[in-house]
Amino acid sequence: MTWNIALADLDLGQAEEDAVLAVLRSRWLTSGEVTRRFEEAFAGQVGARHAVAVSNATAGLHLACVVAGLQPGDEVIVPSLTFVATVAAILYAGAKPVFADIVSETDLTVSPQSIAERITARTRAIVPMHYGGYACDMDAILALAGKHGLVVIEDAAHAPGASLDGRGLGTWGRAGVFSFFSNKNLATGEGGMLVTDDDEFARRARLLGSHAMTSLTWDRHQGHAWSYDVTEVGFNYRLDEIRSAIGLVQLEKLERNNQRRRSLTGLYHRELSIEGPGLGLPFVKHRGQSAGHLMPILLPPGKDRIKFMEHMKSKGIQTSIHYPPAHGFSYYRVAVEHQSLPVTEDVAAREVTLPLHPLLSEAQVGEVVAAVRAALRES
Ligand SMILES: *Cc1c(COP(=O)(O)O)cnc(C)c1O
Repeated sequence: MTWNIALADLDLGQAEEDAVLAVLRSRWLTSGEVTRRFEEAFAGQVGARHAVAVSNATAGLHLACVVAGLQPGDEVIVPSLTFVATVAAILYAGAKPVFADIVSETDLTVSPQSIAERITARTRAIVPMHYGGYACDMDAILALAGKHGLVVIEDAAHAPGASLDGRGLGTWGRAGVFSFFSNKNLATGEGGMLVTDDDEFARRARLLGSHAMTSLTWDRHQGHAWSYDVTEVGFNYRLDEIRSAIGLVQLEKLERNNQRRRSLTGLYHRELSIEGPGLGLPFVKHRGQSAGHLMPILLPPGKDRIKFMEHMKSKGIQTSIHYPPAHGFSYYRVAVEHQSLPVTEDVAAREVTLPLHPLLSEAQVGEVVAAVRAALRES
């Protein structure tokens, strides 16, 4: 289906094409200079000491869980209102996800209060997720982590370039993980980045993400090493030079495109707040500078969401749901026991995500808003 107004779109152009061609012509496709430059530039942009490029954020989250030393039996507190990969990564490490609720219908990030209620003697880590690029309450989460000796790993998949009190999201915890999947704010197709200020964490992430080999192909190519040892079971979670080249160009556009997303979000909020009570608008007032990744609304209680989305579709406008909560999926319902999550359940049943991307025009936002109004009357 070709949409009149798509949910997401990519700001790709000649610069990305040139960058990819340059890599192909260099005849060095992975673990090289371009990836190293992408890592350095990304670390600089988010304000982290180290950045380790990974093949996708799911791999990066898994790597962070392993490097953090999570073991079978360890409990890890995570929101249920997230993409399922956040939770799967905890299971890969053999640890036990414990679902926490979100704050409220105006703040869809994980609730520190709910996290506190779930801390037990077995809790080892917290994995907050910056929903839509909006900051979790990191002061409260770090305070809990400090008090109970827990590791914090931020799922910052939505939040490259976002900040709270001037500090980049993804740099608050022991590690933060970003996604460069093709619908994210910085897109390379597949790809991701693990950032940390901890030298040892970065060294271990780099080692384990590259087969736990003590020397790299690049070093051998450069004549720095003849052989290597393997000291534990590693993974291949590397990013290649082609994607890194796209990432370097996309990184240059990030700030401008995030600004555009924030500006369009402001327009949506102003237009839709006229709808008055009933229609929920999360994050209208929120601390920090968001990455404006998603534009969520909450339908009035009792509205038929499928009918609403069908109406939008009939106008050629693509909408989505972020997210079907993880605890409701058939595997997770059985595999992960959970306590009640009333706010998550209420919000997840009413949430609809509207189109938001840097190429969207003000006029298109106007079209979407008009369609929302009509759909609310008719659904
Ligand atoms: C996209 C996403 C991921 C997974 O990212 P990949 O790079 O596709 O593995 C994880 N968590 C959240 C919240 C996401 O939106």
